Amino acid sequence: MSRFAERIAIVTGAAQGIGAATARTLAAGGATVAVVDLTEQRAQSVVEEITESGGTAVAIGCDVTDESAVQAMAAQVVDRFGRVDILVNNAGITRDNLLFKMPASEWDAVINTNLTSMFLCCHAVQASMVAAKYGRIVNLSSRSALGARGQVNYAAAKAGVQGLTATLAIELGPFGVTVNAVAPGYIATAMTAATAQRVGLEAEDHQQQAAAQTPLRRVGQPSEVAEVIAFLASDAASYVSGQTLYVNGGAR
Ligand code: NDP
Repeated sequence: MSRFAERIAIVTGAAQGIGAATARTLAAGGATVAVVDLTEQRAQSVVEEITESGGTAVAIGCDVTDESAVQAMAAQVVDRFGRVDILVNNAGITRDNLLFKMPASEWDAVINTNLTSMFLCCHAVQASMVAAKYGRIVNLSSRSALGARGQVNYAAAKAGVQGLTATLAIELGPFGVTVNAVAPGYIATAMTAATAQRVGLEAEDHQQQAAAQTPLRRVGQPSEVAEVIAFLASDAASYVSGQTLYVNGGAR
């Protein structure tokens, strides 16, 4: 029996990178996956890929910072598939700057997209999970939660994700819902390629620099984070809740 057979999953920010890899992994395990990104069109290619491999997925356009859009997205999934079993809060952005150069708009954008969005999505799916007495929520934190130069907004948001995760595990645990976070180190995606560009480096050179500081001497791939998310979203992780698991090649 496939490990996600009959499970209904939502993955946000799933048009590319870690979110797309997670959507593919859950679908390969038998889940029906709502591939959520800013526009339905952006999510469509991942849905096509999943469908061509024999999986089931639907593309939904939703800005996860918009409360009414998030409620409509969750309602669409519940109306169509009956409930939500798995929520992966993955959508995120960076707007890096040193404190003295950072406008409040960059602080707000990063806090809203990386942290407030998770509150909104958890709020929107909790009724379905509590009613079913089953749920798996996995939130994307980051190694940057421990402090990262030029990322005061992002580090604060990703540290906030860990607090949100620990608290929701306490509140939702009595209803059979586990809540965990994954905190990746450097993963080769469009997000880190954009960071490389900002500091004037080719993506490969930037990755080599990160790899040199990593015990495993390489950067991570989206599929390596997706596998950890999938474990936490599976029944194999039934007694794991409130945890943040670092997936960073051994960096301290
Ligand atoms: P990507 O930028 O490759 O993908 C993020 C996706 O989220 C994009 O498709 C993006 O759309 C979408 N998105 C952004 N804002 C919204 C929004 N408001 N509503 C819906 N979707 C949105 O990122 P990664 O795959 O690299 O990262 C995924 C997660 O993992 C993020 O939370 C990130 O912070 C975290 N992470 C990543 C690390 C890394 O090294 N890559 C390390 C640690 C954590 P668009 O492209 O149109 O903006």
